[in-house]
Amino acid sequence: MSASTRAPLLDEAERIARQFEYPTTDVLRGVKAYMDQMQEGLSKEHTSLSQIPTYVTGVPNGTEKGLYLAVDLGGTNFRVCSIDLHGDSTFTMTQSKVAIPRELMLAKTYKDLFTFLAKQIEKFLELHHNEHYEAHVRRRRYLDSKEEFKEEDIFDLGFTFSFPVNQVGINKGTLIRWTKGFDIADAVGKDVCEMLQSAIDELGLPVRVAALVNDTVGTLMARSYTSPGKTGTLLGAIFGTGTNGAYVEDLKKVTKLAATGDTYDRNTKEMVINAEWGSFDNQLSVLPVTRFDRDLDAESLNPGIQMFEKRVSGMFLGEILRRALLYLYKDSSVDFLRAPIGTTTVAPNSALYKQWGIDTSFLSTVEADAADGLKGTAAALAKDLGIEGTRYEDRHAVKSLVHAIGKRAARLSAVPLAGILISTGRLQTDETVDIGVDGSLVEFYPHFVDYIREALREVPEIGAAGEKKVRIGIAKDGSGVGAALIALVASNTLEARGSAPK
Ligand code: ADP
Ligand code: MG
Repeated sequence: MSASTRAPLLDEAERIARQFEYPTTDVLRGVKAYMDQMQEGLSKEHTSLSQIPTYVTGVPNGTEKGLYLAVDLGGTNFRVCSIDLHGDSTFTMTQSKVAIPRELMLAKTYKDLFTFLAKQIEKFLELHHNEHYEAHVRRRRYLDSKEEFKEEDIFDLGFTFSFPVNQVGINKGTLIRWTKGFDIADAVGKDVCEMLQSAIDELGLPVRVAALVNDTVGTLMARSYTSPGKTGTLLGAIFGTGTNGAYVEDLKKVTKLAATGDTYDRNTKEMVINAEWGSFDNQLSVLPVTRFDRDLDAESLNPGIQMFEKRVSGMFLGEILRRALLYLYKDSSVDFLRAPIGTTTVAPNSALYKQWGIDTSFLSTVEADAADGLKGTAAALAKDLGIEGTRYEDRHAVKSLVHAIGKRAARLSAVPLAGILISTGRLQTDETVDIGVDGSLVEFYPHFVDYIREALREVPEIGAAGEKKVRIGIAKDGSGVGAALIALVASNTLEARGSAPK
């Protein structure tokens, strides 16, 4: 193979990679637009950034104590856990997980699903908190059924519910619609906490559904509890299947709340806001657009929606790469994945041809590959895509594209972070500003946080000095610990209102 057949491939790969560059000027435009859309979302409904008030009016500082329950109804599993907060930034957690039977996802009435959930809570209490269960549930059920639970015997529970909800209070929110294969008509429009509470009450369990929790808020709370020092965390962000963030906002700025009659604690003068930033700039006024982004969106289930997320999160980066690789492969002017020239190394049933065929973990593998001759990339191409016998040039081209797509995602991720850092004015003190992150992308993609930090330094209002004050750390087990912490915050308010389960 002569040098003249190699150069065009790498040149062309570099040319495509450059389309994913997201230079400083674009970062700055992005941050400005983010701050505008933030303010808009705080003042009215139906905006690009939803900026949903969570009714959580403070973050923990690590001294919180007590035993709490948390449940998480995701798409596939139902998780029940109890969390013992030790009051020194540490905790112990016990948990169980059960797959949700398909027929319950399509049950005739919500009662079937929620009775199942309540029974899992009962089993969990019986197994892991038997003393409590025996002493209170049995006694009440068989001996003295009229007796009320004593306040101190009640478990407060945080309910992480990952479906669209219109939240109107810390433990109040109505289901807007089901997603992820669930469809139970009579649940729509009903309060999800109430549905769970009535099923729990039917079984006579000493459990109060104290809080309705979004996973980003859980991440923020969990990080705030476990992070070093007493200063509260500003922001919790998720970079996993999707991307989203929740942050602590000045209550005065949440002007759309004033229009509602909702009750919440005003003493802290703060409220956690769930940004729903996956839909930042759906109008594409500042987001970068390559032909691959455009095609991915057009062929997605929800064109025009979640436009920021479609450039940033784990669900999409593999698909952007697949489209770029396929484009390069189909380009007859270069020999990509064709060794010897004129043949192909791509198996006919390769995932390269299938929508969503490349998982974002492939990008992490390639980005991390520093081996001589890119051996790790060769192995990943063979294993994930059924592409055998690649040349070094092929692998080099793949790596250029991976790097460009991953780096753009990380630099884009800096945009909401910078917008929130600047607009909350937190960098104006000498204190460390803490950010908690969670999700496989930020955890496993090499240097993801470093690229975010590099972009933060490029923003003049942050600069090198501001970026140094920012501490970014992983928030492990966010959904369980975070839900427990929100239940704790909520229980104080609820106790004051005297709303124990009947
Ligand atoms: P969830 O979003 O459901 O809470 P995760 O945080 O694990 O779960 O994120 C899953 C997403 O992360 C998937 O889109 C998957 O493709 C992607 N992913 C999984 N492993 C890796 C990895 N090693 N590097 C980058 N992305 C990954
Ligand atoms: Mg997650």
